[in-house]
Amino acid sequence: MAKPLIAGNWKMHGSLALIDEFGRALATTELPEGVDVALMVPFPYLAQAAQALNVAGVSVGAQTLSDQPSGALTGEVSGAMLRELGASMVLVGHSERRSMFHENDQAVLGRVRAALGVGLTPILCLGETLEQRDEGRTESVVLGQLDAVFDALDASERAQLVVAYEPVWAIGTGRTATPEQAQAVHSAIRQRLADYSGGLEERTKILYGGSMKAANAADLLAQPDIDGGLVGGASLQVDDFLAICQSAG
Ligand code: PEP
Repeated sequence: MAKPLIAGNWKMHGSLALIDEFGRALATTELPEGVDVALMVPFPYLAQAAQALNVAGVSVGAQTLSDQPSGALTGEVSGAMLRELGASMVLVGHSERRSMFHENDQAVLGRVRAALGVGLTPILCLGETLEQRDEGRTESVVLGQLDAVFDALDASERAQLVVAYEPVWAIGTGRTATPEQAQAVHSAIRQRLADYSGGLEERTKILYGGSMKAANAADLLAQPDIDGGLVGGASLQVDDFLAICQSAG
């Protein structure tokens, strides 16, 4: 089984003071052995986060990137710039990017390629809306989003991705998927990864995201196909986030 990863997604929240708070807490906290931890912070905080958190062995990542290496693209940020500031991971295809910033599967693929091109680990986010779930289309939507990226990559590229299943109806709503609901989709994702061969189903981390918190993390993480968590709101509180990390050990 893949080594667990707990990744926090700060979205457009946080401050330099919060990074320092995490840095101080992590420097004095023993994280469970065999658990990888990462924080995906807003662009302006990357350099400081990389410095403050690296001490504690925590990886730092960004929440999106441009699909282009450089250019007249006002406001965009390239993967190379993220690397230069100390990021090693990047979220791609988060549902907020898909819905609010109109990133379709092609745009997501472009960003995955851009990340891989500079050695960033993409965390590819997949998830269905409540309407799609109610219509019984959860698996076809989620596996469709997966295939849109994986079909276009070669085996060595596929092996570098982390996948996050995040039901859209559970993100930021306080409504978590039950462990059984999450497990069912994770199992379908793992089976689809097996179809790509190369042992992808064994090595790929499949994270769950959607109102994961200290109180429900252990039950979710106990599921056989849940390899970690992508944590939004609860990653803004040091104690809550560290409690989730402990649950993964
Ligand atoms: C997220 O933003 O990826 C997320 C899972 O948010 P929350 O934990 O707040 O639902």
